[in-house]
Amino acid sequence: MTEKLYWKDQRMREFSAVVLKSGEDGVVLDRTAFYPRGGGQPADTGLLKQNGSTFSVENVEKKGDEVIHVLSDGELPNTGETVQGAIDWGRRYSHMRYHTAIHILDGIVTQRHNDEGTLTGGQIYQDRARIDFDMSDLSREKVQELIDEANEVIGSGLKVYSKEISSDEALSIPNISRTLPGRELLEKLESIRIVVIEGLDEQADGGTHVSNTTEVGKIVFSKLQSKGKRNKRLEFVLEDDNPHG
Ligand SMILES: [Zn+2]
Repeated sequence: MTEKLYWKDQRMREFSAVVLKSGEDGVVLDRTAFYPRGGGQPADTGLLKQNGSTFSVENVEKKGDEVIHVLSDGELPNTGETVQGAIDWGRRYSHMRYHTAIHILDGIVTQRHNDEGTLTGGQIYQDRARIDFDMSDLSREKVQELIDEANEVIGSGLKVYSKEISSDEALSIPNISRTLPGRELLEKLESIRIVVIEGLDEQADGGTHVSNTTEVGKIVFSKLQSKGKRNKRLEFVLEDDNPHG
């Protein structure tokens, strides 16, 4: 089992850990700050160091209770010994800003435009994000309105934080998970991690987020595509006024 340091402290950039397994499939540590791909957020990349050798982490995947660090070809670190880990913070911080931006837009649609449609998915990149809507009447003007509302929320400086609650408590909160597989998962787990944007949104989520909405910067509309009658795909970028946290 890998202890999830990326949940304990979402801003942890460096850490030390013990190597539990080391092989061609990847490296498993007793704890890690490397975020494994999931929930629309890409994996972290970065470095592991041991006894003067440096290993490059190219991908991170979750498998059951373990987090697998996939290294570039070459040497492997020794099992049973300590490694120093360092994540590529610039990349991760972008992912955090984009992830929180998606939740802000999701919160606005869920709270204020619930009768018009819903968000059905999202994908984060280092320099942009896209979200899918199930909304029949989503014009460019409507999108700009939603983005204007989101930017107002960003500027109002709401706190963003995570907490663990019981599955029963989670299931009693409306919209805590907005997809059917998500709700099914909630019933299986004993404790659920919730990401809260104070006064706007709370949902079951495994991602990493900034701690105040002002860190997101400014959402700028870049593209709107139609993916069928009701399905629309929006792409946006963040103005980079706070690029390093
Ligand atoms: Zn999320």
